[in-house]
Amino acid sequence: MRRLGRNINGYFGETIAIASVLSDCVAAARAHGWTTEEIPVGENLSLFGLTRRAERLSPAASPAPRVYISTGIHGDEPAGPLAARQLLQENAWPVGVDLWLCPCLNPAGFALNRRENAQGLDLNRQYLDPTAPETRAHIAWLERQPNFDLCLCLHEDWESHGFYVYELNPDDRPSLAEPMVQRVAEICPIDLSDSIEGRPARGGIIRPSIDPRSRPQWPESFFLLTRKTRLSYTLEAPSDFPIAVRVAALVTAVQAGLEFWSQNRALIK
Ligand SMILES: [Zn+2]
Repeated sequence: MRRLGRNINGYFGETIAIASVLSDCVAAARAHGWTTEEIPVGENLSLFGLTRRAERLSPAASPAPRVYISTGIHGDEPAGPLAARQLLQENAWPVGVDLWLCPCLNPAGFALNRRENAQGLDLNRQYLDPTAPETRAHIAWLERQPNFDLCLCLHEDWESHGFYVYELNPDDRPSLAEPMVQRVAEICPIDLSDSIEGRPARGGIIRPSIDPRSRPQWPESFFLLTRKTRLSYTLEAPSDFPIAVRVAALVTAVQAGLEFWSQNRALIK
């Protein structure tokens, strides 16, 4: 599979009608027993927070593990919300897991087909000291949710040669990165560069040595790691390949990651 060569200095691929994708997401969520919440951001702008609690066999049963998935924080990365829609429609989640899903954190950016929000802010650099109304609303919503056992943030990268993943796993728990990359490799090229986005990479996996305090512009994943979780993955689909391939790569990575994680949960806990 070859790169399309379409993205020169930015994303020049397909765009999506975000309102229609989100209404599909909400319809699928409601059909499959999710609770849907509209998180107000400002006039004519809101985010969706979708949640589904696992069925408890008895009130004394131990709490279900919690998984949080988000996407659509960059308005020029359509594969993320499309993957969220497909995951909701297919409804093939691991049994006994509580789920949280934000299918689009930057709807205004999608309307403009650009990375930033309407004010030109990169929302994925806002999580230490947020000024963007989207990020403030999202953080306030996150603070009302319990902590998560696993977080997955779905993105695209217009420059990359293939799929890759960032892992934040400070406790050295069994890694989901390899199972995700292995499964995605069956359907989408993997970026095997030694360096991706200026960070050392190996086999499509970046394990940044991070002290969030050392970085002033926090992405969502730093907020999650500091405040909500001890295990976080950022999945990056390559935008210079056909949209169907990128959506399949994100869906497959989520499914492979969740599958491995639920099988190894006893180890991971
Ligand atoms: Zn992104």
